[in-house]
Amino acid sequence: MIRGLAMKDYWQNYINGKFVDGGAGVMQVDNPGTGEKFADQALADNNDVEEAVSAAKKVHESGFLTDMRPVERGRMVKKIGAYLLENLEEIAPLLSMEAGKTLFEAKFEVTNAARYFEYYGNQAETLEGRSIPLGSAYYDFTSYEPYGVSAQVIPWNFPMEMTARSLSTGLTAGNACVIKSPELTPITQYFFAKAAEAAEFPDGTVNVICGVGGTAGEYLCSHKNINQIAFTGSVKTGSAIATAAAKNIVPSVLELGGKSAGIVYQDASMSNLRENIRKGIFFNAGQVCSAMSRLVVHEKIYEEVVGLAEDVAKNMSVGIGIERDEFANNMGAMISLKQRDRAVSICDEAQKQGARAVTGSRKLNNKGFFLEPTVFANVEQNMEIAQTEIFGPVLSILKFKDDDEAISISNGTDYGLVGGVFTKDLDRAMHCAQKVRAGQFFVNEWFAGGVETPFGGYGKSGYGREKGREALLNYVQTKNIAIKLGAG
Ligand code: NAD
Repeated sequence: MIRGLAMKDYWQNYINGKFVDGGAGVMQVDNPGTGEKFADQALADNNDVEEAVSAAKKVHESGFLTDMRPVERGRMVKKIGAYLLENLEEIAPLLSMEAGKTLFEAKFEVTNAARYFEYYGNQAETLEGRSIPLGSAYYDFTSYEPYGVSAQVIPWNFPMEMTARSLSTGLTAGNACVIKSPELTPITQYFFAKAAEAAEFPDGTVNVICGVGGTAGEYLCSHKNINQIAFTGSVKTGSAIATAAAKNIVPSVLELGGKSAGIVYQDASMSNLRENIRKGIFFNAGQVCSAMSRLVVHEKIYEEVVGLAEDVAKNMSVGIGIERDEFANNMGAMISLKQRDRAVSICDEAQKQGARAVTGSRKLNNKGFFLEPTVFANVEQNMEIAQTEIFGPVLSILKFKDDDEAISISNGTDYGLVGGVFTKDLDRAMHCAQKVRAGQFFVNEWFAGGVETPFGGYGKSGYGREKGREALLNYVQTKNIAIKLGAG
């Protein structure tokens, strides 16, 4: 085991400003790269959730977060990001080892996590209301107020970035937050607790608890003192959380899965496509909600693109993430044996249904949770592999004849997270952008955009938007104040 300054065998939860054990005991966290134990994590029970929610409620009711000038709150938010950057060299190796991702990807993720606090911290003082003319007898205006206590339920694939995404907006808008960290990657969440301390937020403003989703997570999301929920994860859990939110009449943001398609026209640049295949499906071992898991390719260049994808996949170098500090052609492990074996079984089924495994689709012969970078050709729209989010390094390539068919295939799943097109023809690109049902659309660069650009799904990919200005509005409610003038 690599031991940096921050390495510990046991990691606690953080409730009301204290690091505490979990009422449900401890849980083992594995290192996906080695398949061995990485550390133990305190596991929260319902009582821990109760304490975290109660502490957050007290902070909200104290008015600390809302009485100060927003610029001051924004500065505190930005200090969280600064803390993450200052401790990048400690956090990134831990993240690489708990999540199996390459060290490059871990550093990239921590840097992006910090960026959220900079972007939203800068906007704290820009959440302004408006005045509404009602004639000379009234003065009417609106203001934004935080909901109060925000519950934030986090997935394992980008634990730092996903927590940063919800926590930065929640705090900027003046909410106290309870983070439910993911069971598979809870370790680096510790640094959000340390960062909140460094930024001098009062105890109870940021609580970080790891608990089992179906028990502590469910208890948190059903709690009557939770005023808003931000969830990032699977469709199944999203539906359960939306139901819990509906029962308490609280709003929720759901950032769910995807099965996103890049449409490739004949005039697309092949060298650009090569780069986009590399990052679109093999970044983070394909465990990205907005991964380019399908390519929809014009029939005249179909075999050429299949060959290109095969070449990209065969050139990937797969291995233990902590040993890989460059983007290059490096890929790490999948998160767990269960996820890896599920991907293998979907690949096996695809072959039975007639799809062609051009390369990959097998596990590596070692103890880590690795899957070979995989490309499938001759994929038909109705196959499971074309419809199901695999959440692994598996690219499905489908064929189209004309524009309508390309759009129809792209839109032919239950999801609608992102979409994209590769072409030099801007009119055609705009036609696709208008017709593809997705919350974000890329022209000639997969993942183009950043913290500044709103992100979220159509269809079963969820509702509400994280990132961009839009996200802040998920964490505030509008109050209208009407004053009758001259009434005494
Ligand atoms: P998951 O739904 O299994 O778990 C997500 C979180 O929900 C975990 O913290 C889990 O403990 C918790 N949870 C589980 N059941 C719960 C319940 N009943 N009540 C409350 N909490 C509960 O998802 P996952 O496997 O961790 O993440 C992978 C999924 O996340 C993929 O579908 C991926 O596409 C999606 N994702 C989406 C985005 C996005 O921005 N749209 C980003 C990252 C991941």
